[in-house]
Amino acid sequence: MRFRLAALKTLFACLVFSIALCSLAVSQDRASFEKRIAVKKLANGLTVIICERPEAPVFSFFTLVDAGSVQDPLGKTGLAHMFEHMAFKGTDTIGTRDYSGEKVALAKVEDAYAAYIAERDKAVGRDEAKLKALEQAWKDAIAAADKFSAPYNNEFGQIVESEGGAGMNAFTDYDETAYHYSFPVNRLELWAYLESSRFVHPVMRQFYKERNVVIEERRMRTDSSPPGRLFEQFLAEAFEAHPYHRPTIGWISDLNTFSATDAQNFFDTYYVPANMVVVVVGDFKAAEAMPVIEKYFSRIPARPLPDERTTTEPPQNSERRVVLHEQSQPLYVEGYHRPDFRSPDDQVYDALTDLMSDGRTSRLYRALVRDKQIASDAEGFTGLPGNKYPQLFAFLAVPLPGHTTKEMGDAIHAEIDRVKKEDISDDELKMIKTRARANLIRSLGSNEGLANALALYQARYGDWRELFGSVERIEKVTKADIRRVANATFTEGNRTVGVIEFAGAAEGAPQASSEIEEGTSAAKATVKADTHNRSAEALRHPKSVAAMSQEGSQGGGQ
Ligand SMILES: [Zn+2]
Repeated sequence: MRFRLAALKTLFACLVFSIALCSLAVSQDRASFEKRIAVKKLANGLTVIICERPEAPVFSFFTLVDAGSVQDPLGKTGLAHMFEHMAFKGTDTIGTRDYSGEKVALAKVEDAYAAYIAERDKAVGRDEAKLKALEQAWKDAIAAADKFSAPYNNEFGQIVESEGGAGMNAFTDYDETAYHYSFPVNRLELWAYLESSRFVHPVMRQFYKERNVVIEERRMRTDSSPPGRLFEQFLAEAFEAHPYHRPTIGWISDLNTFSATDAQNFFDTYYVPANMVVVVVGDFKAAEAMPVIEKYFSRIPARPLPDERTTTEPPQNSERRVVLHEQSQPLYVEGYHRPDFRSPDDQVYDALTDLMSDGRTSRLYRALVRDKQIASDAEGFTGLPGNKYPQLFAFLAVPLPGHTTKEMGDAIHAEIDRVKKEDISDDELKMIKTRARANLIRSLGSNEGLANALALYQARYGDWRELFGSVERIEKVTKADIRRVANATFTEGNRTVGVIEFAGAAEGAPQASSEIEEGTSAAKATVKADTHNRSAEALRHPKSVAAMSQEGSQGGGQ
């Protein structure tokens, strides 16, 4: 499993310094973490991990729910992400002036919405006058419910902010949903209360207003963005059967249809304690922190684990292709199916990612950017669009002006052929392993990074120690493994290609390098998680979707 591609890339800059650090054996790191980590499965099934790190009087946490947009019900795509938005809307005690009154008002909104949708979606015999009246009744019910909460908009975020919380953030991706921020260490109990409360009794208040925010997100990130449209269609083409073919943000008709009741049902089904991992990393003693965390998180009622089985993607037997003609930066992407993270070859794919993409010595950068000078950026990476299920190993290239997407494909295929036919060098293999250790050590350097990694590995493998196991396994990767896996994976019949072709010289055709760079960033952001940085600014201006999306894109590697 590849841990955070974006983070790894930024780490490369510091590599020179980290090589000295990582002469420290990974097994020693594992042993040192063993001493500082406490794990407890609460009676309701929730896993709590505490890591003592007495460096600064702060802590970071990471709540991981092992359900993402893959779990969106049929006809309700975007629901996992929609619930993530609702988790910031407060509880029965936060964000309301009178919950008993609000509860009745919110139930009326649902009744009115159901009546409106039933008339709207009639296959035959829709009564337009009746529809209008039903829509008005629904809007009136929303206005009545808002009176209970309107003055307390964003109270949850305001409490976090006023108590010194920083970096309040969340993301939804295909595989999971996560929530995280940091607090002064003397706010541990307040945090335990706040974080557990939103999963004990979330309230679907202002659902339809927030749904409009999500629809606007979709418009900005996908419908108005050529790279966004390309990736949506590319994934829909590459995955015929598995839910990876559906966008995390959701199809527009689903967004215009699902209800607050649907979001509550999603929560009830998937936000089950046994499906959640909470990690805290900071300056406290586990023996003191665990009882506090247990006291509050034990309030989440136990429910049965959901059945998360999905359709398995059948083998692909012939090349597929998506071509968009746009007045925008051309772009080339191709993807090859590979097995999920449990594959014994998982670390071979990590090694291939490093070989192809890690930094300016990587093969694709050297060939396409430095030597041939045909692309502004080129990389190959595993884990698209997730890694819990069989996924894609993808290649991406952004042509420089005057060069075609066909040249991108040809140059990438030449590099793939080299990996299939010739062993990589001793130096390359050594560097892959050195970087894997360095990247691991560096990724654990911050409380945030450590909390994220521990949660992810605990959820995926059932044991946080696999964080070190994955690096130990990369040590065992051989040159023959790399050739074998490249030959098995990178075949024409297993390939899906997606391109944006420039559709003629309209005004504003992208030529300047800054615009090309923008195209690359947009393309990369699109393939990553749907992330929100709910900064203080965004909280004060909840309608500032543009700002949120911008920040979200920048933090999108998380
Ligand atoms: Zn969102």
